[in-house]
Amino acid sequence: MRISVLASGSSGNAAVVEAGGTCLLVDCGISCRQLLTRMEALGIDPERIEAVLLTHEHDDHVKGLEVFLRRHPVPVLATPGTVKGMAAPPPGAGALASGREVRLGTITVLPVPTSHDAREPVGFVLESAGHRVGFVTDTGVVTQLLAERLAGCHALLLECNHDRDMLRVGPYPWPLKQRIASRTGHLSNEQSCGALERLVHSGLEVVVGMHVSQTNNNPGLVARELAAVLAGSGVRLAVASQHSALVVEREAGRDAGPPLG
Ligand SMILES: [Zn+2]
Ligand SMILES: [Zn+2]
Repeated sequence: MRISVLASGSSGNAAVVEAGGTCLLVDCGISCRQLLTRMEALGIDPERIEAVLLTHEHDDHVKGLEVFLRRHPVPVLATPGTVKGMAAPPPGAGALASGREVRLGTITVLPVPTSHDAREPVGFVLESAGHRVGFVTDTGVVTQLLAERLAGCHALLLECNHDRDMLRVGPYPWPLKQRIASRTGHLSNEQSCGALERLVHSGLEVVVGMHVSQTNNNPGLVARELAAVLAGSGVRLAVASQHSALVVEREAGRDAGPPLG
């Protein structure tokens, strides 16, 4: 299984998940041009994308979708709430329900509800041939249910949106600060580390810090805080970025840790 995080952050999110010949796009929140450029750099043929999964309807997760679908008309899977919340929902979009697994080619997708100020947001647990990946951004808290669903993953792509102090003293207007820090906002580094402490297990191989704010956080700080939690565990660590792609790969039948690039 290979996950290419094409972009991650408040200005746009998109990732490609490939396993056993199946290829899915998770969110499409960067321009189609940027999406295709980043895919090409990684050798991903957009013609191979079989479906788009959406976490929720916020602009930083859907803004390139309309143009992408004009060029590559594939099914869009989203919860009914997400479809309702979209300004221009693609025809036929839907078919995802929290807690109900969907099989797409070789990949099983389990949508898990997140706590975020969108209509019906979800994260995903993706499974293929014994590989299990948790993909969670845009949530104000890690609920008990979310933690249960993320248990046993080989890779965790987990939001580390802001540093609490940087958010508090930063330039954002007070209502926006409150929104971000709320139970339906975004995870702080501290919250993500707290969740991770509970989620570390002997099968966990890699953790990726996701949706890192460019104003209220920085990748070095995220890496340091996650590293402190993962110290001595042998778990590999990376921080996804708005500006460049990050690849997490776990080869079938290999026990070695996944290469990061
Ligand atoms: Zn959002
Ligand atoms: Zn977002």
